[in-house]
Formats: sequence, C-alpha cells, structure tokens
Amino acid sequence: MAYITDILKGTIQSLPDRISLDRYVQESAFITRYLSRVVKDKAVVVYQVLFHLSWFETGKGEIIVPWARVGSFIRSEQGNIIDHTTVKRRLPDLFEHNCIAVNRQRGNANEISVHLPSDIPACRVLMDQEEREARAEPLTKDERDYYTDPGRRLVVLARDGHSCIYCTTALTEENFVLDHLVPVAKGGTNRKHNIVTACDDCNRRRSDSDPVQFLRENYRQQLISQGEFLRQKDYVEALLAESAC
Ligand SMILES: [Zn+2]
Repeated sequence: MAYITDILKGTIQSLPDRISLDRYVQESAFITRYLSRVVKDKAVVVYQVLFHLSWFETGKGEIIVPWARVGSFIRSEQGNIIDHTTVKRRLPDLFEHNCIAVNRQRGNANEISVHLPSDIPACRVLMDQEEREARAEPLTKDERDYYTDPGRRLVVLARDGHSCIYCTTALTEENFVLDHLVPVAKGGTNRKHNIVTACDDCNRRRSDSDPVQFLRENYRQQLISQGEFLRQKDYVEALLAESAC
C-alpha cells in the first residue's frame, strides 16, 4: 500500500518524518497552480510521476527509480508508453529549475530527490507575487485622502521637508497649511501628489493661480533665490507629473 492511501484509509497516522496529508494535498495543488507555469507541460508530466512515486508512495522525497519505469506511467500522443530516452529529454527543464536532483546512479536506476513545489525557487517567486497582490487591496476613497486625514497631513509635511514649497520657509506641525497643486475648482483631488505643504501667507496669495507661475512670482519678489526657484519648480513639476498618472 502507498503511504498516502494508508493514511486515507486510517491504517496509519502520518509519520513525523514524512509529509502530512494536508501538506500533500496542498503541494499537489501547487503543481498545477505554479509548477505548470515554470516548466514545459511535458516536464510537468514527468515531475507528476516522480512526485507520485516519492511523496505519495513513500511520503518522502527520495526514491530509486529507472527512467524506464517513469516512462511506463506516461503515454505519448499516439497512445504508446514512452521509453527512457524520451523521459530523459524532458529532464533538463526539471534540473534547471531545481525541481529534482539525481544524487547518484545505481545500475540502471537513479537515486533521485524530488523537491516539493513550495521548495522550488521559481514556484516560490510566483507564490510571493500572488501573496503581495492579494495584500494590495484597492484603495478606498478615504485612503487616498491626504488633505483631511490628520496622520496623512503630517506625511505630506515630512515629504516636503517641513517647509513651504513656494517660499521655503521652515514650518512646524503648529503652523503649516496644506495646498492643492491643482485647485479643487479645477478638478484637483486630495491624493498625495496633489497636496503640498505651504505657509499661510503663500497659501492665501497663491489662491487658484498656476503653482509654477506662483513660484516665479515669489522669485521676482526675491522671496526665494534663483537656485531655490529652479529646485522648487522641478519639485512641483515632478508632483504634477505624478498627479497626472
Ligand atoms: Zn510660503
């Protein structure tokens, strides 16, 4: 009897040094879900046979098997059992992705380690990717709001270096105001790249004028140097470009 069949029948409990039933079921699912995206279809079939002969039959990843036996489980498109040379042609794909390793040859049989899908690096990458995507839930309207949320207002203040982006005056949590680069009246949102730190004076004087024009105005009035004007202009234009995305 095979190890997994015995567990299913209740003849034995899963052994501590072997795979548990839950893990076996999970890893089997990973073959179709991840491994089939990593190696070619024909290599997946060979892997499935090896996975069966090892993890299903014995509950362990090490087996001794001749390639001809592996082939005896697989049928070609014409319906014939495939021979050992055909099996061997499909192996490089499995070696390359570290799905299996041949530890040594014993006569015409091979001592093979069959790695579980979750231990195969390329499968791991796909799993991690899926996990990250699952975590990145779409933002709700409120989560995009950097204008009214008190914590996010401070994020903007820190991003802008605790200073007015129009005149570079240093600002604190007590005296900063937030300004919309694209005014709300012109379709501006409360999203991060449209919200900037300003001093009360600049905020009032700018009103709804173009932010780059307003910077130029501050430069003409000698509130900022030419270097500051150019630097702040770059900064504002970068934010405007991000907002447009
Ligand atoms: Zn200012």
